[in-house]
Amino acid sequence: MPLFEAIGTQLEHRHSKMKSEELSKYEKLVVQKLRDILLAKHGVSVDGGKELVLQEAARFDCPELNEIAFALRRIEKGIYGQCVICRHEIPSEVLESNLTARLCPSCQTAIHEKSDTAR
Ligand SMILES: [Zn+2]
Repeated sequence: MPLFEAIGTQLEHRHSKMKSEELSKYEKLVVQKLRDILLAKHGVSVDGGKELVLQEAARFDCPELNEIAFALRRIEKGIYGQCVICRHEIPSEVLESNLTARLCPSCQTAIHEKSDTAR
């Protein structure tokens, strides 16, 4: 069994909504990521909190920034870490390596398999 599938099985019975302390942990990481990209890609150093970072990010039509700003919206709505397709919890291992992950490993795999057969 591939690792991701094994993790997915383990999480099946857990509640799919993230705790607020977990959400705020990810919020910090996501805001930091926005800052990093603003600086690295656009040469903008933001000296301020989340709102200012979001404002700055909105000035650029940058898919990378948009993606992360979207993750931040999902944190605010309390649906961050939830698969957009099946609503199952996305394992923290996945989120930590990819903060903008929107799909759980099994949906991710399903989509890849679909696009493979479509080719
Ligand atoms: Zn899913």
